[in-house]
Amino acid sequence: MALANHFYQNLAGSYLFSEIAKRVNKYSAENPDKKIIRLGIGDVTKPLPPSVIAALHKAVDEQATAEGFRGYGPEQGYDFLRETIVNDCFAQFGFEKDEIFVSDGAKSDIGNFQELFDISCKVAITDPVYPVYADSNVMAGRAEAQKDGRFQGIIYLSCTSENNFVPELPKERPDIIYLCYPNNPTGTVLTKEQLKIWVDYARANESIILFDSAYEAFIRTPGIPHSIYEIEGAKECAVEFRSYSKIAGFTGLRCGYVVIPRNLSLKTKNGGSAALRDLWLRRQTTKYNGTPYVVQRAAQAVHGEQGKKEVKELIDAYLLNAKHIREGFANMGLTVYGGVDAPYVWLKLPINDSWKFFDELLNQVNIVGTPGQGFGLCGEGYFRLTAFGSYENTLEAVERLKKFKF
Ligand SMILES: *Cc1c(COP(=O)(O)O)cnc(C)c1O
Repeated sequence: MALANHFYQNLAGSYLFSEIAKRVNKYSAENPDKKIIRLGIGDVTKPLPPSVIAALHKAVDEQATAEGFRGYGPEQGYDFLRETIVNDCFAQFGFEKDEIFVSDGAKSDIGNFQELFDISCKVAITDPVYPVYADSNVMAGRAEAQKDGRFQGIIYLSCTSENNFVPELPKERPDIIYLCYPNNPTGTVLTKEQLKIWVDYARANESIILFDSAYEAFIRTPGIPHSIYEIEGAKECAVEFRSYSKIAGFTGLRCGYVVIPRNLSLKTKNGGSAALRDLWLRRQTTKYNGTPYVVQRAAQAVHGEQGKKEVKELIDAYLLNAKHIREGFANMGLTVYGGVDAPYVWLKLPINDSWKFFDELLNQVNIVGTPGQGFGLCGEGYFRLTAFGSYENTLEAVERLKKFKF
């Protein structure tokens, strides 16, 4: 037998959402008459906006004609989409289209991006955290197996109610810093001043920030940065990942992109330097053959005048759900975070056992959420609810909470 990549053995055993599914399936099998409301997994439920559908139809029909047919496209994305993205979001920071790389979603980009760094590079992540940042580095051999709930070799930045979920600067210098704002799972945001501390730190320490802004379109509070490039100096230290998934319902269609400033470089072993965007271009042209043409046309529609209006309505509806969830749990006497500029509400529990809370919520009122412990050591004692359910189900869940005793 061939030997398996032993770094994969360092990954943590049970996957959070399969454990949730196991418990929910068991409950359903034993209580077939109960209607379960799922506010657990972070997938959207609303259909694609009409202008996205229209763009898809048009692009599909083009494929039936000799002139309109598209085979392999450019690995970094079609010019029409990269130009649209730059003009709509990044030209204001001086970017050009060759600094934009279109993909099949932010998860692949974020998971793959660590390949550009040497195995010796030190990684910092917040705790709690979206699991992809840590796991992709564990697979690459940049960290060892978990001990007491944390991968050895990774620098953890604790985010709890004590520091208001604002990570403090690390004592040890990381090469790579993953930041995600608005945050999954906590739903919290950073102000410009708070984000600037990280940009200044990264510049002073020659670290690279990998900034995940998958939820930027949920920001409603004026002044909260949508992009890290709103911070002075960010072009010297940061890469930004964006996705159409949560903002426009592309979780199934698949499209995202990464912004890599032209002048951002890594040092090479021979004492020279390599531009990050050249490394990523090389990586993508070797391992990726491009996002489907029809999907890129659909993504382009999101940036149109009508598309923007539809997307805003979509997000407003999810944010209204978030407001009801916040109020429902606050009325129970729990402290709630997030849910204002993000589709996630993060509860502080009165007990330090988020799986026990999960079971109680499921058993008493048939609501499924996500135990905070699944997102990291600092998530224990917290609980995530998503605003991606239907309005009716969300209201019913809030109504059921009135009978919930904890
Ligand atoms: C959902 C999500 C993504 C990306 O999703 P894709 O569907 O792969 O674009 C990225 N980051 C965070 C934090 C997410 O929650």
